Amino acid sequence: MIDRIGFSRQFANRMRFLAVVVWAIISVAMPFTYLILSYADRDRASDLRGELLADGILLSIRDNPELWYFDIPRFLEVGHRVPEAEPVISLRVYTAEGFLAYEATPGPQAFLSMTTRTPIIYNSHVYGYLDIAESVDALFLSSLLAFGMFCLLGAVLAYAVYRYPVRIVVAAERKIFGVFDELETSRDHLRQLANRDAKTRLFNTSYMNDQLNAEIGRTAAGGPPFSVLMFDIDHFKKYNDRHGHLQGDVLLTQLAELLSRLTRESDTLGRFGGEEFLLIMRNAGEEAARDAAARLQLAVSTHGFPGEDSQPGGRLTVSIGIVAYRPGMTAEQMIRHADGAMYAAKEAGRNQICISDGQAITREGEKIIRVADLAFTSQTIGQMLEKLDHSSRRQIPSAHVSTLLGFLKALDSRENDIAQHSLLVNKIAMSIGRNMNLTEKELLQLNWGTLLHDIGLLAIADNILLKPGPLTPEEYDAVKLHPTFGYDLLKNNDYLDAASKIVLYHHERWDGDGYPYGLKGTQIPYLARICAVADAAAAMAEDRPYRKALSPAAIVAEIRRNAQTQFDPGIVAVFGILASCVLPAVADARQMRDVKNKKTVPGA
Ligand code: GH3
Ligand code: MG
Ligand code: MG
Repeated sequence: MIDRIGFSRQFANRMRFLAVVVWAIISVAMPFTYLILSYADRDRASDLRGELLADGILLSIRDNPELWYFDIPRFLEVGHRVPEAEPVISLRVYTAEGFLAYEATPGPQAFLSMTTRTPIIYNSHVYGYLDIAESVDALFLSSLLAFGMFCLLGAVLAYAVYRYPVRIVVAAERKIFGVFDELETSRDHLRQLANRDAKTRLFNTSYMNDQLNAEIGRTAAGGPPFSVLMFDIDHFKKYNDRHGHLQGDVLLTQLAELLSRLTRESDTLGRFGGEEFLLIMRNAGEEAARDAAARLQLAVSTHGFPGEDSQPGGRLTVSIGIVAYRPGMTAEQMIRHADGAMYAAKEAGRNQICISDGQAITREGEKIIRVADLAFTSQTIGQMLEKLDHSSRRQIPSAHVSTLLGFLKALDSRENDIAQHSLLVNKIAMSIGRNMNLTEKELLQLNWGTLLHDIGLLAIADNILLKPGPLTPEEYDAVKLHPTFGYDLLKNNDYLDAASKIVLYHHERWDGDGYPYGLKGTQIPYLARICAVADAAAAMAEDRPYRKALSPAAIVAEIRRNAQTQFDPGIVAVFGILASCVLPAVADARQMRDVKNKKTVPGA
């Protein structure tokens, strides 16, 4: 017997049987391969580890083991940077003994999760472990879906092969795969949309970050030089206030159009924040970037945007910060340097261009600030100790360090936010100190002095320290004794001499109206003057019962308003320039309260 396509029935049946078997194998094997490949391809955990390393978080923990319990804000920086949509469920830190020391939970709980563990090692000693738990829900569901689809498809095709002549099956199959192609095309389209900012249609932040990393990879591997330009609209808040947010949005779109029209095909332009734009210029060193920035800045200021007459100077302008890639720079550092330069351009009067070379920021060739390192705590206590001479190192046995931190922990357990506040003060002060070219020894004193500046609060009675309402004048007088109490605690220690002076004088004011001694101007040790600025900035960045935390801009404005009266104007100037780098991190740390309740104390 011969069937419709000319084979003997027996042969056709064998072919059908074979086809059924092949389809069955494919339909089971495909989804499993997909599942396995998807898992094998997962590098998010290692990405995140890279990010932690790049942030110096792991480094700061391992170089500074006695402090790492207190370095919670650094984890938060990472925890908060991981957007909620990302699959990271939690970051946990365990001590070497297995006690849970810290936990941040940036993402929602997941049905299925995967945990990867990284040991925190320094000098071959394991100090603890970092566990990153990630959701694999989405992956699991899509694999399940793929599995189901292939099974169904396999079953349908197997049945079709069995039931109908081969050419009908082939035609049907072609149709089905045609649908798949269309699906693929629309998925590409969706992917493109995902890279765009909805308002301006420019690329969005995450796409720009990817491009920046790719560009760094290309240049590091011997590719052409490239530069990054950060644009920020000057006085945009005023524009919104005057014309409303909807018109503000229109302006953002018009500016985006103008900038994209004036940039090269090979450049990548993205919206990097509210009214900030980032331009990655391929094949452009510092010179070329500066020329382009000047051209774009002029184009913006002469374009004639609607309603710009109400802006200061009668026109809409942008401030621009530039950094050209230098070997070893990370994407994050480049953004930070471009941002720092942009902020310096604001300081210099707006509608300006500043260039950072990673060390210093210049405007029109003139050096305006040395930026030793805008990152926090790049030089940890451990590293500083190593640089001290032997005799001073002997004076600070680690038992003593633990005792001092013990004070801080004790105080923290009485007054909930003290350690957190002290850390913020410490971070801001160290950042200022580093940019004032302090010596290693001075930085070490600043480090301890700011960390322990409120230690004298230990001696203040509970009914005053923990009082919810406002203090009476007598109670306030009692609180004012804390610098002296703190000083008494530390003064007999040669090693912490200057640090103890920070504790004693951190409430003195530049105009002489402070306490306990009413010292004036340069009579106050300058490390204490740095601490005073940092203390005030940190306090403003925190929620208080009587007011909410202030925005970074409001903090800078308030500190500046009090230069000459409360604060040393020189230090205020340095703080003003660093603020764009310092305050966002402080704001992140401020959100720490949200997760603070989940904090577990190490088993020590
Ligand atoms: P500066 O010159 O110091 O940059 O002053 P500024 O007012 O531009 O800066 P500031 O950071 O104080 O305020 C930024 C403003 O940008 C606040 C907000 O009203 C506005 N903004 C941010 N994103 C958007 C947006 O998507 N649409 C609109 N209309 N306004 C936005
Ligand atoms: Mg801005
Ligand atoms: Mg602005």
